[in-house]
Amino acid sequence: MEALHKKIREEGIVLSDQVLKVDAFLNHQIDPVLMQQIGDEFARLFADSGVSKIVTIEASGIAPAVMAGLRLGVPVIFARKHQSLTLTENLLSASVYSFTKQTETTVSVSPRHLNSSDRVLIIDDFLANGKASQALISIIKQAGATVAGIGIVIEKSFQGGRAELDAQGYHVESLARVKSLVGGQVTFVD
Ligand code: 5GP
Repeated sequence: MEALHKKIREEGIVLSDQVLKVDAFLNHQIDPVLMQQIGDEFARLFADSGVSKIVTIEASGIAPAVMAGLRLGVPVIFARKHQSLTLTENLLSASVYSFTKQTETTVSVSPRHLNSSDRVLIIDDFLANGKASQALISIIKQAGATVAGIGIVIEKSFQGGRAELDAQGYHVESLARVKSLVGGQVTFVD
């Protein structure tokens, strides 16, 4: 997606060979016009997947997920990282090892919002080692629902998450595929 590549080139900050900071348009300040284009692109890519719900993880997945949900005409659920007093039922939960924070957290979704007839599109901001996606897959399976696809805004193709999801047979679409961050330079997969 050219607009996203341009934004990453112009406003992304390479923090290390492994980590890209995009808090100018996705992870802190949000560019609504770009988010709308991202949502439109996800909706186009998954138009024939029979999506009935979108699931993401708070907080950075929410903006692209909502834009995709608006276009696809389906509700958006965000897995919560902290147990809320208002979430009292038995939750669908999975633990995620955070690549950027290097800590383990539990993410949860209420079973009231997912059921066995749902075809669920997973959306997330980044794909690195795939831990966040695998946690959402586990939650969707616990609900007896089906994974319709996985939509990623920025994939770091030099890490293992994409290959693992491909090997598991999931339909993965990444709007930007970063080949390397070495030397402070962002290069994309052709
Ligand atoms: P994974 O679970 O695939 O290892 O990592 C994906 C999650 O870690 C994303 O939800 C994102 O929050 C975070 N993440 C992974 N790599 C990066 C990165 O290079 N930059 C930023 N900003 N977040 C990342």
